Formats: sequence, structure tokens, C-alpha cells
Amino acid sequence: MRIILIGPPGAGKGTQCQRLVELLRVPHLSTGEMLRAEVKSRTPAGLEAAAFMEQGQLVPDPIIVGMVSRRLQAPDCRRGCLLDGFPRTLPQAETLDDLLERRAMSVDGVIELAVPRDELVRRMLTRGREDDDPAVFAQRIASFELQTAPLLDYYANQGKLASIDGLGTAEQIFDRVKVAVKRFEHAARIR
Ligand code: ADP
Repeated sequence: MRIILIGPPGAGKGTQCQRLVELLRVPHLSTGEMLRAEVKSRTPAGLEAAAFMEQGQLVPDPIIVGMVSRRLQAPDCRRGCLLDGFPRTLPQAETLDDLLERRAMSVDGVIELAVPRDELVRRMLTRGREDDDPAVFAQRIASFELQTAPLLDYYANQGKLASIDGLGTAEQIFDRVKVAVKRFEHAARIR
């Protein structure tokens, strides 16, 4: 299974990704984590990306696409993967489709974790992480709504989108995630 998890900052993607990779037994490809590793080991890509990340801006596509494309070619991704943080824009989604198509692969399904904006702000205020400066957090939500939300239509038009209510306990939400995965598995079998 090749699945994408999409959700605004504070939606609880991290928690659900952890559970989902255990269920699917596929690698977890988080572009945020990959970038932080590049920054830490001071690679050329990392040094270039850092300036954008510090300002809460999207890192330029050539860096992201190169990184994801190399990772997707690794043997452990043959059986599938969970994509987290990529694609984040419409051009990235189109590039991903091209990358996969060239390897006779495709996206099996996309899960949207839907959480209302006031709940995201409430969670940010209560968890108080140091990168959760209220102004920067608002900026990340705005960037999600502007750049990432259009992806939902892109995948809905392909019949690949499952929108899930992101309110409730982690367990309740994961039950909904599992229902979506079952649906993707069924669709993949009849394709
Ligand atoms: P968030 O909590 O905002 O979802 P991530 O850990 O996914 O954060 O990403 C951290 C930062 O890495 C982003 O703010 C952005 O600068 C950069 N980044 C991650 N994925 C991408 C991507 N697909 N395209 C461009 N920039 C990205």
C-alpha cells in the first residue's frame, strides 16, 4: 500500500503515522524528518533548506523532489510506503504521480485528518511546544489552507480521498483510519 496522510499542523498526523506504519509494515517517509536529518548532518541540501524552514516557509521543490525520489527508489519502498508531509502542493502531487508512474506504481489512497481551525489553535496552546509560536503557527495553518488544501480536490477527483474526522481519542481516530485503509485495499484489488 502506498498511502498519503494529509492534515494541518496539530491534526495529530504523527500519532496516526506511527500506528499506521505498524499496521501496514511499510516505511514512514516524513519529509519534515528527512529535512531535519539533512540539516543536522550539514549536507548541501540541508544547508539550503534550513533558511526556509526557520521561517516556516516551504523548501524549494528541487530539494524536496530529489530527496523523496531517491528515497522512493530504495528497495524497502518496493512494497509500499506511508508519505507524510509530501506532497504539500499541487505541483508536488503531479511530480509524485510522474515519479511513481515511471516505476509502474501509484498512490493507493489519501487520508485527510480533518480538524477545525479553533481546535488546532486550542491544541497548540495546550501542548506549548517551543516551535509553536502563535504567529508562526497561524502562518503554518494559512500555508496549509492555501497550498495544501487544494490537493484534497486533486485526490478526490481521482476517487482516492478518505476524509476522516480528526476529533476524538487517538484510538477512535485510528479506527477510522483502519476503515479507510480497508477501502483502499479493496479498491487496489479490483483495479
Ligand atoms: P509541520 O509540523 O509544519 O507539518 P513538517 O515536520 O512536516 O512540519 O515540516 C517541517 C518543515 O519542513 C516545513 O515547515 C517546511 O519548511 C519543510 N517541508 C517539509 N515537507 C515539505 C515539502 N513537501 N515541501 C516543502 N517544504 C517542506
